[in-house]
Amino acid sequence: MKTGLYLHIPFCARKCPYCDFYSCGGNRDIQHRYIDRVLEEMSEAPIVEADSLYLGGGTPSLLLPEELARVTAACRERFALEGEVTLEANPGTVTPQALSKLREAGFNRISFGVQSFVSEELQYLGRLHSAKQAADAVLAAKAAGFDEISVDLMLGIPGQTKEGLEQSLAVLQTLPVTHLSAYLLKIEPGTPFDDPAIISLLPDEETTCALYLRTVEAAASMGLLQYEISNFARPGSESRHNLKYWQREPYLAFGPSAHGFLNGVRYTHKSDLTAYLAGDFGILCEDDHPNELEETLMLGLRLTKGLSFDALVNRFSLDGAAIDRLLRQLIQAGLMQPSAEGFGLTPQGFLVSNSILVEWLSLLLPQL
Ligand code: SF4
Repeated sequence: MKTGLYLHIPFCARKCPYCDFYSCGGNRDIQHRYIDRVLEEMSEAPIVEADSLYLGGGTPSLLLPEELARVTAACRERFALEGEVTLEANPGTVTPQALSKLREAGFNRISFGVQSFVSEELQYLGRLHSAKQAADAVLAAKAAGFDEISVDLMLGIPGQTKEGLEQSLAVLQTLPVTHLSAYLLKIEPGTPFDDPAIISLLPDEETTCALYLRTVEAAASMGLLQYEISNFARPGSESRHNLKYWQREPYLAFGPSAHGFLNGVRYTHKSDLTAYLAGDFGILCEDDHPNELEETLMLGLRLTKGLSFDALVNRFSLDGAAIDRLLRQLIQAGLMQPSAEGFGLTPQGFLVSNSILVEWLSLLLPQL
């Protein structure tokens, strides 16, 4: 099995008030030195064959295409990289010329952090781009030769209404998008959004559920089929890299705060750019014995293709009759359904996926 590669680019033009990803400011000199260090870390990593590279952040598109081209070249040389090569980009940070250079550098998939096509919602989120810039960026990427284009939308934005979501979906429908990620806003402790005044503006639970279910329905009508709790794609345009996360496949990670998974061990990097620039990559073992059953359930239930419970019974010697009973209950409640691999959550099930996971874990973990 080939391996994925993840590179964290820890630079942002400005911190968004809801975000707790590791990122900071940085000028061209720091960015150049950062890529020097990344290439050094790559040169010391285990030699694997890679079939995906994902540059996330932060805002990878803040870097010059020439810097990003150094990364793709190094990955081809060190990891025989072939396959899906994704760049996360913010609208407003890409020009037609830069997009063409990125295609030449080997990027074949671009994921835009749009979040909304409604100006007031973008302002609430503290985003630097306008709705028009977002739509223009998608069209420019298509014109530059990107066939795989993903857009992120956020649901449950302070003040968001069903009409606001319809406005975003109406714009999305006009764009050459092959993939959609639709995330529910989560209030992260310690961020500026972790404030009673902001929290009081969040849509109530009923509205948030309606926003999610409407997105599932609208995406399907655009040919973007749900394949994960928050992800939708044209058939064949699913993110191969992200599928590795949910299918417990290996991926190497590079850069401060980046998480990797290799030979059954989960590891991470310290969130410390200064140390990283000084040559301390800060690699820490996160968990060298992750519970395989727990992870398989937690990750597999995120996917619409679901899980083969028969395979779980055989692999972990579980009580098949108890599993059948819980499955029947969840199917009757409309929360699970037969799926490609066995059984998976319905869209209504995804809305309460955490409590369903707890039910499964409470039933199965004591059987190990
Ligand atoms: S641009 Fe993205 S990574 Fe950067 S602060 Fe905003 S949400 Fe976070």
